[in-house]
Amino acid sequence: MSQIRPIGSSPIGRVYIPSSPPPQASDNGVIAFPTSLALELEFHLMLESTHNRGIFTQAKKATYRRWLENPDAEVEGNTTHERNKDRNDRHAAITGFQLDQGCIYRKAELHKNTLFRPRYVALDSNAFEIIQKEHRALKHYGMLLSICLCSIVLTSLGVDKTYERLTENYYGITRSNVAWVVARCNICTTTAAAKTKVLVRPILSGRCLDRVQFDLMDFTSIPDHEYNWILQIKDTFLKYV
Ligand SMILES: [Zn+2]
Repeated sequence: MSQIRPIGSSPIGRVYIPSSPPPQASDNGVIAFPTSLALELEFHLMLESTHNRGIFTQAKKATYRRWLENPDAEVEGNTTHERNKDRNDRHAAITGFQLDQGCIYRKAELHKNTLFRPRYVALDSNAFEIIQKEHRALKHYGMLLSICLCSIVLTSLGVDKTYERLTENYYGITRSNVAWVVARCNICTTTAAAKTKVLVRPILSGRCLDRVQFDLMDFTSIPDHEYNWILQIKDTFLKYV
């Protein structure tokens, strides 16, 4: 008999292998994703607004688990609508999913010419952490590439690689979910900002003494007799100092 575990606990099945340190650990001194309840709440609201049905809520997980543990049980519900929904859930659970040590897994399937082994179904309570872990396990990916690529391309590649890696082991998380999280990664956003070239605006001068630059240097700590300052004035047209 398998060990009974809390319904929201992390998966321990053979497919799930934690691949990186906890998210609060830093990368080269920078915290990629600070622990923030506000950020997690924002992620939840995003999931709700995008109607992601692949990521399970705790309620959906409980329903699917009930059917997978006891497929011959009676359909539940007080109304016809509720009973029909429970019947549909029973069909979806039995045909597409399997139970492994209390966790729901998507059955092995061929999808777009890719054969997936059983994949852990992400929950709305742990999807955010899963994306963070996989993104960090890839060392933020985009950072490792050539500096010739622009930041938008790097960020996009970082999202693609993280999504690609996620879909091998997890079910339900979409590419846009990954993009949402990567856009909030301190390391990726810092790198992208550093790669953004500063716009240089040349100052034009058309004739002698049209424009001059002043540089006042402070030598009060090492004065030359009564002289404490050096004022340098440069004509930007002739370059004379
Ligand atoms: Zn990152």
